Amino acid sequence: MKVYYEKDADLGLLKDKTVAIIGYGSQGHAHAQNLRDSGVKVVVGQRPGGRNYDLAKEHGFEPVSAAEAAAAADIIMILLPDQVQAAVYKSDILPNLKPGNILAFGHGFNIHFDQIVPNADNDVIMIAPKGPGHLVRRTFTEGGAVPSLVAVHQNVSGKALDLALAYAKGIGATRSGVIETNFREETETDLFGEQAVLCGGVSELIKAGFETLVEAGYQPEMAYFECLHELKLTVDLIYEGGLSNMRYSISDTAEYGDLTRGPRVINAESRKEMKKILSEIQQGEFAKEFIVENMSGKAHFNAMRRLNAEHQVETVGADLRKMMSWLKKIA
Ligand code: NDP
Ligand code: MG
Ligand code: MG
Repeated sequence: MKVYYEKDADLGLLKDKTVAIIGYGSQGHAHAQNLRDSGVKVVVGQRPGGRNYDLAKEHGFEPVSAAEAAAAADIIMILLPDQVQAAVYKSDILPNLKPGNILAFGHGFNIHFDQIVPNADNDVIMIAPKGPGHLVRRTFTEGGAVPSLVAVHQNVSGKALDLALAYAKGIGATRSGVIETNFREETETDLFGEQAVLCGGVSELIKAGFETLVEAGYQPEMAYFECLHELKLTVDLIYEGGLSNMRYSISDTAEYGDLTRGPRVINAESRKEMKKILSEIQQGEFAKEFIVENMSGKAHFNAMRRLNAEHQVETVGADLRKMMSWLKKIA
């Protein structure tokens, strides 16, 4: 594994360049402010009418359209939702791209799955912090950073990796380490992680555990605490010191149950399905399904969202969290 730090990156490469941040959302607001604080010239491309536009103004930027921002910049970082990037690229960015401009991404989806086919005369790079934008901003202001990935898809200038590293330094990432990868690896592992483990796997595990207890006649509130609320305590321990650290902290009873019962929940069948999910990602089947779903008006997507929002674990949880004064109120 190749890891780059402060000494490996030269912010001077961005000295005479303007960076356009297209989209002032989770990642966009962090990249734009961190780069500006690092002395880089930044122009924000953010459509008006929403909270993110107001936020960009509050943060002292003069947001312009994506087209204007692209026209004014040398490096164009696209931080829009993955499913809208191709359309905005085609209508607003492409007509304003000049040879030698550098196209940058925070995730490889659109390049890897050919939704955006870049011009042959533009460098194409990725700088992908391994954390949400708000952490990217907060850690930067505290003198730290979220580690990031960098990748190069097209290297016309011969300096694409150095430019990606300079950008990574601008958002702070070289303070903690920047790992080199490629668009395929980043895209496929990112999709697999969120589908099988971080989002899909965890959500279903919570719901299945909750339903098992409730169907057996236990109080839903008890089921909520055991199957959802306490997850954070476990994850914090894992995050800080790995699985061993978590197992060191829990009781021997919990640890014995963990080691003997865990493999029965995530069993050979689950592992087989994980392989299938990975294969669907690798073959582009997931990407195709997601793109078609978005193009056809998201009827299925929205129905699934609604059903999940109405699940008992959500309604019980909303009431229980009112007892937890330290939690932020989230409508
Ligand atoms: P967000 O959803 O937070 O922000 C999206 C931005 O795009 C907003 O400024 C939004 O403006 C704008 N936007 C949305 N739809 C349109 C549209 N149709 N036309 C023009 N502008 C639009 O995105 P993220 O920051 O989460 O994601 C950006 C990229 O970063 C993605 O590629 C993602 O995969 C990647 N990434 C995200 C991470 C994360 O933790 N969120 C982590 C690492 C990478 P408006 O407010 O007006 O809707
Ligand atoms: Mg992702
Ligand atoms: Mg317990």
